[in-house]
Amino acid sequence: MSEDCLFCKIAAGEIPADKVYEDDQTLAFRDINPQAPVHCLVIPKKHLDAPAAVTAGDEALAGHLIRVAGEVARQEGIDDYRLVFNNGAGAGQTVFHIHLHVLGGRAMQWPPG
Ligand code: 5GP
Ligand code: ZN
Repeated sequence: MSEDCLFCKIAAGEIPADKVYEDDQTLAFRDINPQAPVHCLVIPKKHLDAPAAVTAGDEALAGHLIRVAGEVARQEGIDDYRLVFNNGAGAGQTVFHIHLHVLGGRAMQWPPG
């Protein structure tokens, strides 16, 4: 747990979230400001600042986030979806606890902004 980290607090149950999936390593919950009909965030319970902080020892955990994202999409009833990691403020990262966005339920544009 990292002090003053919003998503660590959500993972610890100190701040409420609309959870859609949980296991021993991860938690998924609905984004508070959804950008698509389905917009969930998958986080590891372990604090990592960003994708760039993933080291060799975290590879299994990083892969698990993708598997959980697929499970969330199935639960939400969507086959077509976008998974997004933002790394760094310039790329749109605003919460510095790694999270995988699961976006779907509408057509997606490419390239993203
Ligand atoms: P980022 O921009 O860092 O990739 O994504 C952070 C996401 O977290 C944003 O989509 C934002 O809406 C969401 N978010 C920020 N604060 C909260 C919160 O307190 N609860 C939930 N559920 N989502 C949040
Ligand atoms: Zn954290």
